[in-house]
Amino acid sequence: METVVKNSGVELNVLKDMNATGHEQIVFCQDEATGLKAIIGIHNTVLGPALGGTRMWHYSNDGEALEDVLRLSRGMTFKAAISGLNLGGGKAVIIGDSRTQKNEALLRRFGKFVDSLGGKYITAEDVGMGTKDIEYISMETKHVTGLPEHLGGTGDPSPVTAYGVYMGMKASAKHVYGSDDLEGKTVAVQGCGHVGRQLVGYLIKEGAKVLVADIFEDNLQECKLTHPGVQIVDAQKIYDTQMDIYAPCALGGTLNDDHIDRLKCTIVAGAANNQLKDEKVHGQKLIDKGIVYAPDFLINSGGLINVYGELMGYNKEAALKKAEFIYGVTLEIFKYAKENNMSNGEAAIQYAQRRIDQIAKINSVL
Ligand code: NAD
Repeated sequence: METVVKNSGVELNVLKDMNATGHEQIVFCQDEATGLKAIIGIHNTVLGPALGGTRMWHYSNDGEALEDVLRLSRGMTFKAAISGLNLGGGKAVIIGDSRTQKNEALLRRFGKFVDSLGGKYITAEDVGMGTKDIEYISMETKHVTGLPEHLGGTGDPSPVTAYGVYMGMKASAKHVYGSDDLEGKTVAVQGCGHVGRQLVGYLIKEGAKVLVADIFEDNLQECKLTHPGVQIVDAQKIYDTQMDIYAPCALGGTLNDDHIDRLKCTIVAGAANNQLKDEKVHGQKLIDKGIVYAPDFLINSGGLINVYGELMGYNKEAALKKAEFIYGVTLEIFKYAKENNMSNGEAAIQYAQRRIDQIAKINSVL
């Protein structure tokens, strides 16, 4: 994706990028008083309002943030569609360090921008954001989900995301090893955050050998305290470590030329969005290396199922039950990909797009 935003205004490829990715709307938000710099990406609203979390990250430049929001919001469209939810795809990014620059005023100002879209975009948590932050955003807009339980929400969606990833990982194991039992398998979890930590819990319980990596020592120590059985590996060396399953649960783009060359595993199944740096190139590269890839937007859809449940009035238990469907759909996608000689990622996109195209036909009928 070519994303050139030059301060001089000479070269601006945003509309070209939007056209290439099929985006409906991009909203740039800036506020001097609070220091807010954010971008809201609305990819597709055929199935319903665009729902997707807000990520706060210290991007090195605006172009990187724009590229991230374009890729993430497109992924949300497919995630909602493949999960059978009546939602479109959207996502937002706030440019900044969530550990030092996040505060009530900045988040509430962001909430006002979300509100100005009148419900076309609904926000929730993502990397660098927690339920308290969502609470601040909700002070300025009702178009928010993933609220804390004491405010009538379903709280942090990560446990349901982790459960869905676990389901997708088990389905992948069934496909590759003939059994979905993870006992004795070595699983490397990259990122001990909200989802990674919960996933580790399921894996340890099942008897897997779990390796963990994170860029922050305190996250690793917290994980080790809860799950003493985990083994810590250096964040830089994770790709060179022998393992059965690589579970990316940090940021996207880790499946790139360099990392795939180094990977020593048979399955990739994790929570991170947009794991493939380039869908076509790296989807094929994994096939060539004999590594089975569980499509990220399918197996990490538990969180979206959870926040959708909050909007529709069902509880966390119902969301967990619904997330179990990920096991069966993952196996269906593997079969479809094999029959049609395509990568698992391409197969999942075709599945999702088929539903969007079908529903588009009935949208114009009263
Ligand atoms: P989080 O911010 O709680 O955790 C991310 C963790 O990754 C942090 O501990 C961070 O320090 C670590 N990290 C960052 N870069 C790293 C690197 N290079 N190597 C190792 N660790 C690194 O985020 P989260 O909510 O756990 O989400 C994790 C991923 O899953 C994200 O890509 C997110 O978009 C995706 N996801 C999350 C949910 C959800 O419900 N939270 C739902 C769907 C998808």
